[in-house]
Amino acid sequence: MSALPVEMKAMVLTGVKEINLQTVPIPRPGPEDVLCRVKAVAICGTDPHIIEGAHQGRWPKAYPFIPGHEWAGEVVAAGEKAARFGWKAGDRVAGTSHAGCGFCRMCTTGRYNMCENYGREDLGHRQYGHYTNGAYAEYVVHSMKSVHKIPDSISFNEGALVDTTSIALHSIKRGHVQPGDTVAIFGPGPMGLLAVQCAYAVGAGRVLLVGAGERLAKGAQYHAELVDYKDRDPVQAVLEATGGRGVDVTVDCACTVETMVQSVQVTRKGGTVVFTGVPLQPVQLPMQKIVLEEMDIFGVRANRGTCEESIPLIANGKIDVKSLITHEFPLEEFPRAYEVFTKRIDGALKVILHP
Ligand SMILES: [Zn+2]
Ligand SMILES: [Zn+2]
Repeated sequence: MSALPVEMKAMVLTGVKEINLQTVPIPRPGPEDVLCRVKAVAICGTDPHIIEGAHQGRWPKAYPFIPGHEWAGEVVAAGEKAARFGWKAGDRVAGTSHAGCGFCRMCTTGRYNMCENYGREDLGHRQYGHYTNGAYAEYVVHSMKSVHKIPDSISFNEGALVDTTSIALHSIKRGHVQPGDTVAIFGPGPMGLLAVQCAYAVGAGRVLLVGAGERLAKGAQYHAELVDYKDRDPVQAVLEATGGRGVDVTVDCACTVETMVQSVQVTRKGGTVVFTGVPLQPVQLPMQKIVLEEMDIFGVRANRGTCEESIPLIANGKIDVKSLITHEFPLEEFPRAYEVFTKRIDGALKVILHP
């Protein structure tokens, strides 16, 4: 590791909305970590919340802090134990945010996204780009649990969207989408557009996408049936499109007060509703329908284990992430990239930074 440079450029958050390009020391990998050269990092919808202080004290716990958790790059050095697991310089990888402690009940049952030792760095827990330094930088250190090898056929830009794809896939799997099912997706942002593709990838027969504007129109590219809530009541529209029965599974990627209720209303008796997003306000769900129609309601927190499943689906073209990338900027132009992403300038969906 002696040949590595010692300093790197990174976007460092030093307070609420204070984010600047700085030269900082390159982090060094612990025994179970890999040090990676970041080639592409996508701005996630969560990042503006972190930058603007919505989760201050939790994400991040303290300043200075480097955000960024949707990235791909190349391993440049492996810690001692990681090397024994076969990690080596030159491995092409996609990163994900969670690293569980590995020992608690949640981790040992595969649900490391809900590790009981969340936030306990002394016990090995990490959440990169949330409270552990992330990838808005030339280099990043990750646990070997939080990187996934990508084949040469997946570009670094595409690799940066493995994490997002894995959450969409986890949502579809939480909903137990079966071959031939009719699925409704609320919210045609990047997550919703990926959920459309993941639903088809696991065998859905029809996918209805609910939203508005050019983001909704984009859904046609992925063969979704479009429901524009500005044209008409989306609940009526979905019920009509399903002969009054409702869809088998609904995945709500918007999770507003309105869409969470509508998601239950458009789902059939005995159907399943998945919420992929944290509502910003309390929401009153139609509990009589949920109880009397024996509906299954699932929450989604990031992903678990679905990066490895997403990679082959991206590689074989079943899931097209490339078409979601609308803008690319060098890391130095972060302020402009951030503006384009948050204000959705020129139809911005996924915005990629190149450190
Ligand atoms: Zn993300
Ligand atoms: Zn754990």
